[in-house]
Amino acid sequence: MEKILIVDDSILQAAQLKAILEDEYDITIAQTAEDGLGLVNSEDFSLILLDVVMPGMDGFTLLKKLQEEIITQSIPVILITSLVDVAHEQRGLVLGAVDYIAKPFSPMIVKARVNTHIKLYHYRRQAEQQSMIDQLTGIANRRRYEQYSAEKWNEAIRLHVPFSICMFDIDRFKVYNDTFGHPAGDKVISAVAQTAASYLKRSMDFLARYGGEEFVALTMGDPSEKIFPHLVKIRQEIENLRIPHDPSVSQWVTVSIGGVTVIPKMGDAYDFYLKIADTMLYDAKKQGRNRVIWADERMRLMGEPSHALSVHETGGNA
Ligand code: GH3
Ligand code: MG
Ligand code: MG
Repeated sequence: MEKILIVDDSILQAAQLKAILEDEYDITIAQTAEDGLGLVNSEDFSLILLDVVMPGMDGFTLLKKLQEEIITQSIPVILITSLVDVAHEQRGLVLGAVDYIAKPFSPMIVKARVNTHIKLYHYRRQAEQQSMIDQLTGIANRRRYEQYSAEKWNEAIRLHVPFSICMFDIDRFKVYNDTFGHPAGDKVISAVAQTAASYLKRSMDFLARYGGEEFVALTMGDPSEKIFPHLVKIRQEIENLRIPHDPSVSQWVTVSIGGVTVIPKMGDAYDFYLKIADTMLYDAKKQGRNRVIWADERMRLMGEPSHALSVHETGGNA
């Protein structure tokens, strides 16, 4: 059931609205704009019915505040008021209300307009979600990644916890395409994404297709000693898919993985660490591919023992 918030200082009017809508919707009532603001920040509403004239903060002010916040600006707001003059209606619509219902209201009209805006909101959310998914692999796309990484980076700074950025890239993939064709290449990208996604579930929070045959994974909270073995495991599992590669370059399709774990501080730039992850990936390629190279919290390199990689200081930031 979609949730609707009614913000109205009149208990009677709020009760009337609730009676009209409660068959189809889950209704919450706030008697002041301040209470309403608190509620929208803690619960997910699909629509707000907002009274304009209220003691304390009025409806227009609340609407303006809702429009200023990213989390609340997409929630449709219908203003309910007896101020039927054009200037008020105009002001409400300019501030971002989706509709305007004048008092005294007809229950049928309230219901019809609410239904319409709930439906529109639902479609819009669906479209937004779809626009965040990579069509080939079904995992998050670059756009979702940009959004997610910015949010999580700030969260990690606030919580002062380790944050890991991991880049994956399929090895010698140009040759694969040249030998087996682009459609076969697409299937490989998809298989690698599925395998990475299913193994990452236990260790990383997020996986996206970064572009082409490259992926990016992010996680927060775990130290590098915990993340690194998981990534070695994923690299092995992808090799274990035993997807035949062009024998001139490799027996099976493999990936190289590079990344970094950092405990970010206020003012640290995400892009700086993304570049380090990318450098680690580049090193993994240079050192023979099909391997994981990681920069830990103290900027020490971690590599896989079987590949006999050297561990050395590159200067710390911890
Ligand atoms: P390396 O091991 O150094 O990563 O070599 P590589 O050949 O994988 O790297 P390079 O970046 O030179 O080539 C990437 C290739 O990936 C180029 C392109 O043919 C292929 N590719 C990129 N996107 C797609 C895609 O969506 N589908 C398919 N089938 N191939 C893609
Ligand atoms: Mg590649
Ligand atoms: Mg590449």
